[in-house]
Amino acid sequence: MVLLINPPDPKGYISNKDTMGGLGQLYSYESNIKVPPIDIFHIAAILANFNIPVKIIDYLIEEYNEKEIVKLLYMVKPKLIGIRVAFPIFDFNLEFAHFLKKISCEYKVLLFGPYLHFIDRTDVEKIQKYGIEYYTGLDLTINFIALVLNLLNINYQKDLLDKYNANTTEGFNNIPFPKWQLVDYWKYRVPFFKDEPFLPILSSKGCIYGCSYCPYVAVQGYKFINKSAEKIIDEIEFIYKQLGIKNILFRDPFFTNNINRVDKICNGIIAKNMKIKWVCETKVESLNEEIIYKMAKAGCFQINFGIESFNKFALINSKRKIVNVNKLKKIIEYCRKYKIKTFGFFIIGFPEDDKFQVLNTIAKAINLNLDMTQFTYLIPYPGTPLFQMIKDKGYIIEKNKINYTSYKPVIKTNFLSISELKSLGELANFSILFKQQKIIPFKISFIKKKIKYLLKIIFYFLKTLN
Ligand code: SF4
Repeated sequence: MVLLINPPDPKGYISNKDTMGGLGQLYSYESNIKVPPIDIFHIAAILANFNIPVKIIDYLIEEYNEKEIVKLLYMVKPKLIGIRVAFPIFDFNLEFAHFLKKISCEYKVLLFGPYLHFIDRTDVEKIQKYGIEYYTGLDLTINFIALVLNLLNINYQKDLLDKYNANTTEGFNNIPFPKWQLVDYWKYRVPFFKDEPFLPILSSKGCIYGCSYCPYVAVQGYKFINKSAEKIIDEIEFIYKQLGIKNILFRDPFFTNNINRVDKICNGIIAKNMKIKWVCETKVESLNEEIIYKMAKAGCFQINFGIESFNKFALINSKRKIVNVNKLKKIIEYCRKYKIKTFGFFIIGFPEDDKFQVLNTIAKAINLNLDMTQFTYLIPYPGTPLFQMIKDKGYIIEKNKINYTSYKPVIKTNFLSISELKSLGELANFSILFKQQKIIPFKISFIKKKIKYLLKIIFYFLKTLN
């Protein structure tokens, strides 16, 4: 028996280990976001094809105190325990692994998760200090499964394993559906679906754009690897009919990278009369009215857009294509026409950001009339070209990984200190509330403190209004 664990989170936090290419993100506990790391369930499905029994414990939806987990380990007697780690809470995950090792040093404990592919010497030393012998940082690939099979002394044919090489289109398509049945999947939650259960699907991975700050390409690679429309329709049908789930979150970094494939997926959902609701993330440039209409007809009710910034210098230096604002506005209009909500993500704190540029981004973002807008701070994720550049420049101010939530600034820019970035971030969030007329929760003292920025933002609003 192999036991795969999504380990507990530090008190007051909840982790989403699936985002940021699998490096993970941290939220406050109150957010109640419960998104499973999909790779655990893919691994379980592949191991099942090698006739290896697997148990999954997901602390996001199950609670075990120390006594209960000890009891469970004695009952299950796993030959191998795999622990899925995330970048911001790596130290905490390591302590949990150490705790399991202390129960019995006979347990083989394997740490896994993309972050381990990029760890530095300090973290390697920590792993050794805690007596953990095995770790692998590769994305879901045959190498991970091969390591598990070797640790279990199971002979296998290489051809059989090569079949699941997720770095090729054929192999990615061969990966069986995630083994959701191994947990109480009804408990997973994400705010988009209000309080209804949902399940994620990874229908494509990687991205050809290679933005220098993007953790998805660092982990998944610089090309698109798509599952076929037929495979995705089958997976949706399995989730909808066999598992009874009606809400689906596509976890692809760029879902509409091939609109013919998306068109086929939509046709399949419509033809099979599947009454599902779904959300995806994509880039504006790939959309047009026709595909938006089709997506809405097939149940898409929200599209998340990474728009990032209106600072041209930051976009150029990040190798990110500059978005055409008119096209952006048109796409938002089409989404509204077909009742798809738009959620725009923006980043503050690119090295090229100064006060003027950030205020410009805030004003233009608010002026876009998206249904939802979110500003977060730039995080230098390990493995990205940005990380090395920021490190070389000495811009990393915050060293404690637990603060890499993207809701706190951790690096300075060429022009802005951490505290200036913090003020601008507060102002950005204030502006969203102002726009949404939810200003009441803010104290008068806060408004007084930020009055200078507030006046500036009003000025930019007026300037950018058409
Ligand atoms: S376009 Fe999006 S997914 Fe692609 S590299 Fe840039 S940030 Fe990443």
